[in-house]
Amino acid sequence: MEIAISPHDDLGRMCKGARELGQPEFKQRFGYAYHLDAVKFAGMLTKVCTKRGVEHIRDEVQSVELDEAGNVSHLMLERGGRHDIEMVIDCTGFRGLIINQALGEPFMDYSDYLPNDRAMALQIEHPDPDKIESLTRSTALGAGWTWRVPLYNRVGTGYVFSSAHRTDDQAADEYMAWLGDSGKGLTPRVIPMRIGRMRNAWVKNCLAIGLSGGFIEPLESTAIHMIDHAVRWFADHLPTRDIAPALRNRYNRQMNKLYDEVLDFICLHYRLGNRTDDPYWIDARTQMKIPDRLAENLELWQHRLPVEHDIEFATLFDYRVYQAVLLGKQVYDTGYGEGIRDRLRPLKKPIWFQYWKEAKTDLAQVLKSMPDHKTLLRDIRGELPKQPAFGMAAAMKPTVAMPGDVPAPVVVQNMPNLAEIQSGAKDLQLF
Ligand SMILES: Cc1cc2nc3c(=O)[nH]c(=O)nc-3n(C[C@H](O)[C@H](O)[C@H](O)COP(=O)(O)OP(=O)(O)OC[C@H]3O[C@@H](n4cnc5c(N)ncnc54)[C@H](O)[C@@H]3O)c2cc1C
Repeated sequence: MEIAISPHDDLGRMCKGARELGQPEFKQRFGYAYHLDAVKFAGMLTKVCTKRGVEHIRDEVQSVELDEAGNVSHLMLERGGRHDIEMVIDCTGFRGLIINQALGEPFMDYSDYLPNDRAMALQIEHPDPDKIESLTRSTALGAGWTWRVPLYNRVGTGYVFSSAHRTDDQAADEYMAWLGDSGKGLTPRVIPMRIGRMRNAWVKNCLAIGLSGGFIEPLESTAIHMIDHAVRWFADHLPTRDIAPALRNRYNRQMNKLYDEVLDFICLHYRLGNRTDDPYWIDARTQMKIPDRLAENLELWQHRLPVEHDIEFATLFDYRVYQAVLLGKQVYDTGYGEGIRDRLRPLKKPIWFQYWKEAKTDLAQVLKSMPDHKTLLRDIRGELPKQPAFGMAAAMKPTVAMPGDVPAPVVVQNMPNLAEIQSGAKDLQLF
């Protein structure tokens, strides 16, 4: 039996990075992701692609022509004229200019499942530029939630809310109050959101990627993850001359499952919400539909915790994150899972204390070994001298002390193994 204690929360609070200086990326035993400056990232992709021979034309698509089979045959550009098309990727955002407007693929609206349809955003200064949190903060407000994403030079913030519960002015008041002094003198930009997806993202010779293909509200910051999958899967299914329906069908099936995966997990948060201080939260819990898959699972999870096979398609949200949400929301302490309680045996206290003691020691070691986040970012940006082969650490001038030796991975000792638990020699209760 493996039990994990995650260092993420403490790393974030302590403004520490998620990997050690000089260590290769994503080799840590705990996962992490990067916050990206979208504008700079787009610029970087342009450089990479044009270097590899892609021609980058900045122009406005004025109209889309279809051939008799209904495929896109030409795009008419404002300055560049008429362009022949073999295969086109629609990445025109919420407009869905080609997939939706020209090809007429229907949009599957998710507003029965998710209440939030608007957002407002502002970039603010770091309160202390030397203390950069290494996490996203999501905070529930009256009619939705806010994000706070610290980048190197600034902090991106926003409020995602339901227009059925707040006007833009009301939401702006709430948002600005939440920002406090850091938002003084700024006016938020309002972003209407089209929540749902195309019935199919690949239609004829057009593939919709990104917001044109669909968007599920950004509570779990999943859009770029989905774009990444779309691109990889398209490469897997890349047609040669004719587009075999089998390729398109399989791609669409996979992509639709990905939307389902994200939809289920986002709906879970609202369905398990326990706030009663605003009609928004009560409506989100009681008036919104949830997908049948999730409804069935929630019924099941009243009797046991989520296990691997409960989640049929998991690129990101597997049974462990469902466990984390259920336990984190303390649903089993509020009468939700009497069925689970019946199945539990008590955990022997000394085992738990021993585990906890060792896990805390290991956790402290991990936290000590990590550089502060700003130092790590400066290293990634190439602003620190290369890691010296021999003790020149002082020359590197980090903003906090350099990390010590790489700690051994966390090993939890004296935990009962599966055989001991099964034989009843030792007991383990998870909560
Ligand atoms: C409130 C909010 C929060 C988000 N938070 C996250 C997050 O935390 N994590 C995450 O991964 N993603 C997030 N996203 C999603 C992320 O912003 C998008 O995935 C990303 O911007 C890519 O979108 P896109 O390229 O599909 O569309 P857009 O960024 O909207 O780009 C569409 C482009 O198409 C162009 N265009 C439109 N019509 C034409 C035309 N006729 N001719 C030429 N060009 C045209 C537009 O000018 C625009 O440049 C969020 C989105 C929103 C709305």
